[in-house]
Amino acid sequence: MDTFQEATNAEETLDPPDWAEVGALSHRILDDAIAYLKDVRDRPVWRGMPAEVRAFFGAPLPRSPAPAADVYDDVARNLMPYPMGNVHPRFWSWYMGSSNFTGALGDFLAAIQGSNLGGGNHAAGLMDSQVVNWMKEMVGFPTSASGTLVSGGSMANIIGLTVARNVKAGVDVRERGVGAIPRPLRYYASDQVHSCHRKAMELLGLGNRALRRIPTDAGLRIDIAALKAAIAEDRAAGFKPACVIGTAGTVNTGAVDDLQALASVAAEEDLWFHVDGCIGALIAIAPESRSLVAGIERADSIALDPHKWLHAPFEAGCALVRDASAHRNTFAVTPEYLESTPRGLASGEWLHDYGLQTSRGFRALKIWMALKEHGVEKFGRLIDQNIAQARYLTGLIEAEPTLELMAPTTINIVSFRHRLAGASEERLKVLNTEIMLRLQEEGIAALSDTTVQGRHCLRVAIANHRTRRDDLDLVVSEMLRLGREIEAATPA
Ligand SMILES: *Cc1c(COP(=O)(O)O)cnc(C)c1O
Repeated sequence: MDTFQEATNAEETLDPPDWAEVGALSHRILDDAIAYLKDVRDRPVWRGMPAEVRAFFGAPLPRSPAPAADVYDDVARNLMPYPMGNVHPRFWSWYMGSSNFTGALGDFLAAIQGSNLGGGNHAAGLMDSQVVNWMKEMVGFPTSASGTLVSGGSMANIIGLTVARNVKAGVDVRERGVGAIPRPLRYYASDQVHSCHRKAMELLGLGNRALRRIPTDAGLRIDIAALKAAIAEDRAAGFKPACVIGTAGTVNTGAVDDLQALASVAAEEDLWFHVDGCIGALIAIAPESRSLVAGIERADSIALDPHKWLHAPFEAGCALVRDASAHRNTFAVTPEYLESTPRGLASGEWLHDYGLQTSRGFRALKIWMALKEHGVEKFGRLIDQNIAQARYLTGLIEAEPTLELMAPTTINIVSFRHRLAGASEERLKVLNTEIMLRLQEEGIAALSDTTVQGRHCLRVAIANHRTRRDDLDLVVSEMLRLGREIEAATPA
């Protein structure tokens, strides 16, 4: 049937016409990728983009084809030289992991295999559940707990806080909505709580004010007496205290709330105990430091972030819930097109019943491959290594009269600033901001800044498996140089 044959030949596909050609290009991309990471230390941590690069990203929608090699050349020229910088050994801004090559291969293979982790009876589904089980083991949760891999810590916190709301609402909030909740719910966290909790409260329909920020002590940990007083006050005023959020590693200074004390308060007051462990939950695998997060295993739910201290390529977060049925009852919906069958592809577990997404990416593979390659003990040692490096930097700062430590260093975050004799807070902020920007612009190091107890400061967060102590020596000496240069150029 000639006409049929013609029609078949005319059908299009996205597959390459010549797989051998694509193989050659792929090998080139792989070689470039290896060189990129191997030499990362020799490149600037950050650089500004020239105008032609910015203009490149204004190009209109491509309508006709281009050879894949040309497409890659565009990427190599306009994208790869201008990363955020977090793979660099002197990237310590905000808080993020530094990725890893095996994880990147995992992301590639996940895309090649193409499985959708919404659920079903296939190997990727089993691997996804296995990685969740490994996470439970890492933080000391029982095997009966449930969990789900999500995009990051913000989503993981939303999962935990949503289960808390539905369990504590006192009505079927899924059917009747938050308007039917008889006594308004109150959540509690320290005044250092991450901003994603505010978004969660808004999204949950409880409102930002339903999250009470409790004052912190000198170590920026939640004040337990103040927490108890707030709970009593709310009960007397007709609210229903529902949930306390403990932070294991605040984003500002790395403070770790007293999780044992919070677990006890939650038990006494019948509150849901959620731990935001995006930074610190995994300290539970660090042999030298794990006592810092003792009590985390008593939580009702935990948010943690494999794309931070497990260095998974973005994105990977994880929510764990002790009571698996409470977790499932919060999210499970089974429409007819997603019903399980007794056999075959649809007979596996529907993993989308544990969160908000229907289609889910195969996040587990990149985590699984790196964990198998290195073993969890090495990840634990790397966490200890970063904490020891932060202590080392703290020592350098304390030994240097021109620098001032601004908060106690508990884990891997160091808050400090350059001093200036007789300068106002405003002038100090200008000086330190300028130092931070020049460190970035000269490609030396990426730091961020924050405000601790009302005072502006710089912040080094070492969640980086490539950092070495000499990188910290360098940033201190470069800060002193920049401080001298800026002062010399600025008449008092
Ligand atoms: C990073 C972080 C979050 C948010 O996690 P994402 O992965 O960025 O969404 C929440 N809480 C704390 C304490 C964090 O450090």
